[in-house]
Amino acid sequence: MHQDLSGQVAIVTGGTGGIGRATAELFVKHGARVVIADIDTEAGDALAAKLGPAALFKRTDVSQMDEVRALVDFAVSRFGGLHVMFNNAGISGAQHPRFLDDDLQDFQRVIGINLFGVMAGSQCAARHMAQNGGGVIINNASIAGLLPGQALMSYRASKAAVIMFTKSTAIDFAEYNIRVNVLAPGHIRTPLTAYAEPGVSSEVAERIRVAVGAAFDVNQPLKRTGRPEDVAEVVLFLASDRAAQITGVVLPVDGGITAGDPVNH
Ligand code: NAD
Repeated sequence: MHQDLSGQVAIVTGGTGGIGRATAELFVKHGARVVIADIDTEAGDALAAKLGPAALFKRTDVSQMDEVRALVDFAVSRFGGLHVMFNNAGISGAQHPRFLDDDLQDFQRVIGINLFGVMAGSQCAARHMAQNGGGVIINNASIAGLLPGQALMSYRASKAAVIMFTKSTAIDFAEYNIRVNVLAPGHIRTPLTAYAEPGVSSEVAERIRVAVGAAFDVNQPLKRTGRPEDVAEVVLFLASDRAAQITGVVLPVDGGITAGDPVNH
């Protein structure tokens, strides 16, 4: 039984951002060796140096299949295996308040990273895991993939697709002893959400604050905005054998936003 991640090898995509960084740090603290994958080379090198020999950085654009394949090969060759894949990299895309103003090329960029990146990461990781006794895949969606609303259409669509993709791969990969689950974070204070912070005044910020339950501190049931560490703790749980009987689950980490309060979501 792995109660922590001792002896495990993990990949964290988007590993230098808010949630990815917190997860990489927590994984190392709990005994894992971690490959941090991101397009931000400077931040990746700095984080790997800070975390020491248990961490390596591999520059990876998750929207490129060959780069994701090379990422998995890198983890296997440098750390001797791959047990946990956290498909976390994501972008919000252009922030127009209205879909009629959206540029559909931006839509393709969002889908390429948020959805294709998860599919590529899942397939490459699972091909290795299936040959080696199994593993765990955790995808990062969003409550924006559960709740409809105005603005961020490409983001919402990509995250809804990641949720269905996760449930389906959970069934498909079960025969290889691979568990697959997906997070739906609410509003977590990271660079991704800086544009909708309270005090930022724009039409899109207003719409998102209302529509994604971006409720920051006051409107969500738990009355505080999430921290990257809140999400990292849940990823650690799902990655460990404590979650051995959990697969195909979409788990909100949202301070209660999706619990059903129709006024404040
Ligand atoms: P963030 O912007 O801090 O981190 C995202 C990271 O992904 C960055 O380090 C960025 O360089 C990296 N990245 C971007 N494009 C990439 C690519 N093509 N290949 C590899 N890496 C790439 O954002 P975050 O808030 O930490 O978001 C992490 C994940 O959590 C995303 O999938 C996001 O959609 C999801 N999420 C965040 C929130 C929130 O409120 N912050 C809520 C719900 C879901």
